[in-house]
Amino acid sequence: MKTAFTATRLYTPIDEIQNPVLVIEDGHVSDVYSRTTKEVPPNVALVDFGDAVLAPGFVDIHIHGGAGLDVMRASLSELPRLGKFLTIHGVTGYFATTVAAPLDATCTALGRLADAIEGTASSTDDDPVQARPLGIHLEGPFLSHKRRGVHPPENLVAPTVEVFERLWQAARGHVKMLTIAPEVPDAMDVIAEAAKRKVCVSIGHSDAEMPVARAAVRAGARHATHTFNAMRPLDHREPGIIGEVLSNDQLSADIIADGIHVDPAVVKVFLRAKGPGRAVLITDAISATGMPDGRYQLGPIEVDVKDGKCTSGGSLAGSVLTMDRAVRNVTKFSDWSLRDAVRAATLNAAKAVGLADRHGVLARGAEANFTVMNSSGEVLKTIVRGRGF
Ligand SMILES: [Zn+2]
Repeated sequence: MKTAFTATRLYTPIDEIQNPVLVIEDGHVSDVYSRTTKEVPPNVALVDFGDAVLAPGFVDIHIHGGAGLDVMRASLSELPRLGKFLTIHGVTGYFATTVAAPLDATCTALGRLADAIEGTASSTDDDPVQARPLGIHLEGPFLSHKRRGVHPPENLVAPTVEVFERLWQAARGHVKMLTIAPEVPDAMDVIAEAAKRKVCVSIGHSDAEMPVARAAVRAGARHATHTFNAMRPLDHREPGIIGEVLSNDQLSADIIADGIHVDPAVVKVFLRAKGPGRAVLITDAISATGMPDGRYQLGPIEVDVKDGKCTSGGSLAGSVLTMDRAVRNVTKFSDWSLRDAVRAATLNAAKAVGLADRHGVLARGAEANFTVMNSSGEVLKTIVRGRGF
């Protein structure tokens, strides 16, 4: 059974289509075109979203929780609540992101997340419409002590292929992203091994100088984690890791555009440096997202949330940012169009982690994951695998 959706415009997101027709069948996109070139076929159900904008569902590759749930602690039956909450903010797929915790606890959490990923990989019509966990992002334990942020020092582990293998096995191969500090001894071996397994290796929580960051790219790193945060600061004569992240076109990079983690002017500099094809928006959101101020858990870390700021022992500890707000912030902090901001939250993210054939894009063959938004980027509706309208 085919369904066609119309609206005023659609972001693929590389192209903008006026008077679009988005045809879906069996949870996938079967056609995208403009009504000015072809009429809607008579034998399909038509859903008209009027003057709204259609865009791919957001893909958040760095999120720790939301709606009161922490991805390392939530049970399998609780996770759909997070998934449903995320759809309110336009997200259709996410990477459950760990923090440095005792290895046994991490492995238990990874097994549970693997269950969640496998459980939602094929869904039935009875399942709730929810953003799905598409993979696991290991943020740690291979981080720099100097730039660990709030990751507990006792849980940081010297990088070895053996420890990586143990985490990989516990996650049953669902690790799709690894944040690692390249300057830590033997980190390059783990970078090479993870890259070989098609993991998106992301440099971050790092005090690396520029040549080390460059060597990491040669070893297989392709991305950078929350640029500027938990990194050796940029100095114009000693550019360090940030100099490499901003100047190397082989790297995509992400940023937390909540206006708290990075000053809006620096977000603008970042967007100019990485450009509309390589800038990625993440939330780094924690369980407190969508909840009132108070005390929350981030893995093993206690976090205080006040006025939208998450701290632990005086350091920033994740965010309560949502993807739709990050997108709108980009249009406020810079001269980027809504389409380019959407691209940073969809296709660029999916590309960075190797999922762009089916996620973050509205093209034939992709999953029918999309948001219906108004022209200011407010999400009105989110459709996951063709369901939820
Ligand atoms: Zn994080």
